[in-house]
Parts: sequence; structure tokens; C-alpha cells
Amino acid sequence: MGQQLIVGCDVDGVLADFNTAYRQRLIDVTGRELIPPFVNGHEPGMWYYATDEYGYTKEEDSAVWKSIIADPYFWGDLTNYPDTRRFIADLYMNVDPEMVYFITTRPGVKVKDQTEEWLRVRGVYNPTVLIAADAEAKGRLAVGLGLTHFIDDRPENCFSVLYHSPETKVYLLTHKYNLWAQRNTVAAYDEWINKHHPWTGGDPRSVADRFTLIHSLADFTQALTNGRNESAARV
Ligand SMILES: [Mg+2]
Repeated sequence: MGQQLIVGCDVDGVLADFNTAYRQRLIDVTGRELIPPFVNGHEPGMWYYATDEYGYTKEEDSAVWKSIIADPYFWGDLTNYPDTRRFIADLYMNVDPEMVYFITTRPGVKVKDQTEEWLRVRGVYNPTVLIAADAEAKGRLAVGLGLTHFIDDRPENCFSVLYHSPETKVYLLTHKYNLWAQRNTVAAYDEWINKHHPWTGGDPRSVADRFTLIHSLADFTQALTNGRNESAARV
């Protein structure tokens, strides 16, 4: 019997452009404009760029997050990337709609509603959105749901899925801010295990064939098409 595809897909940094709205919210809340616009290929170079790269204070960043969390429209109002709608259409050409999970760690008011509505507007008929507490939760969900494929832009989320869910193929969508994990993925994963699961002694080399860097959503579509064909061949 062929194995069906079961896909876990992150939302922000994969389908939704969080950073542009976050940058604007930083300006609105703090009155300070310290970050250049995210245009012409410019992207932040690290995850916590507001504080670590551009000089906003931790208090300012906290105030911004407080405002995001209290806003019933922030997540629903995000724009998508240029290739998001095409990707969603291609996703459902390859995968049973009931076997697609959108897994996010977004915090906020009615965040599941906001995310579902956002996806519906972009062509997902009846989205299944799961709100995970953190990277650990994403890994545990991946094994619990039996995900065959998982895509995320945050290395820690990818590493957690690799660690907790040995059957899942994991895809990191590359951005400038996750470059550190792209350069030597085995070493980066090893470092993550030592930090988060230091006593388990997993062999980081064993993940190399389950972890793939991809540079576009089309690359993930291709991986799904290949996975579907492999499944068909095994029937
Ligand atoms: Mg993300």
C-alpha cells in the first residue's frame, strides 16, 4: 500500500509576510523608524533583528508584541508573498486537503480564526490550523500527526521536527535571517540537540538525508510531487 502524504506547513515567513507588518508596527508603537524597508531583496539578517541588529530596546519590542497580541486583525491583515497563492493551488494538487496542517506559533486574539480566514481568502477551502506553543510542540505534533513533509523558515522548528519525528522529511525555506543554519546544517542541528536534548545522544549525521534547504515554495511543491510519485510507485 502506498503511503499518503501528510503535510505540515508553517505560515509566517513561508506563506505570510510577517516582517513587513511587524516593521510597521514597530514604527507605529515606538515612533522610531530604525529599519530600512524590506524592499529590493533586503531582509533582516537575524531572527531578533529589531533589538539585536537595529537598536530597538527590549521594552519597545515587548510593547510591540503586546499590541500585536491584543489586535484582532493583525494576523488576518498580513500580506502574502507573490508565490503564495500559486503554491496553495499546487499544494492541493498533490495532497489530500484533509492531510494538510498549517502549524503556527502565532500568539494573539482569535489567532486561529484570523489564520483560517487569511488562508480561506487565499484559496484554502477548509483549512486546518494548529496553534503550537513553541518549537518543541511543533516537533511533537509532527510525530503525532505522522507528517511525511514539513516546511518552516525557523531552523529551531525544523530541528525539533527532525528530532521528535524520525519519519518526517523537513524543508527549511531559506531567508537571510536563517543563514546561520544553512551554512552547516549538521553542525547547527548538533548544537541545537546539545542545547535542548543534551542527554539523548542523537546522531546528527543521520538527519542529513531528511533535511533539505529550499529556496522557494516551488521547490517544496517539487518535493511533494516526487513524494506522491514515490508513493504511487509503492502501491
Ligand atoms: Mg515561520
